[in-house]
Amino acid sequence: MNKPYFLSENVVLRLLETPSVYHVKRDELYELNEEAFSFLETCRQAEGCTTDDKEFLDYCLSEGILTDIRQRPVKYTVRPSPVPSLRYLELLITDQCNLHCRHCYIGEPTRQELSLHEITSVLGEFEEMQGLRVLISGGEPLMHSESE
Ligand code: SF4
Repeated sequence: MNKPYFLSENVVLRLLETPSVYHVKRDELYELNEEAFSFLETCRQAEGCTTDDKEFLDYCLSEGILTDIRQRPVKYTVRPSPVPSLRYLELLITDQCNLHCRHCYIGEPTRQELSLHEITSVLGEFEEMQGLRVLISGGEPLMHSESE
């Protein structure tokens, strides 16, 4: 019997315009056909997955999509994204900053910021929409009044 393989904890499956697997650490998106996507879904399960398709398996192993080491379960829901998909989000959480760059695009800070509730709500929506990557920015995000 073939030994089991597991979906790496560094990747997530996404149903974007095309079924995909996203490598979070490398910010790389791989588009898949339905068969490959279904196969990788089985690799999320605790018992792992096996295949006789050595070429595909070797590719997934070399790209860090699959591993032969049992992974910590990562909880997320795979559902179809809106079309067009929203993949990247830059969230400006405050206009406060401790620097005074001449080229600043913010202008004079007016002490505007998103509340913690607004931030968590937007992040939740982004996750629901199958988003890939969030950039938290400002101003200086660490000057947000609730950053401690
Ligand atoms: S917000 Fe950015 S560009 Fe503006 S002063 Fe701060 S670090 Fe400089």
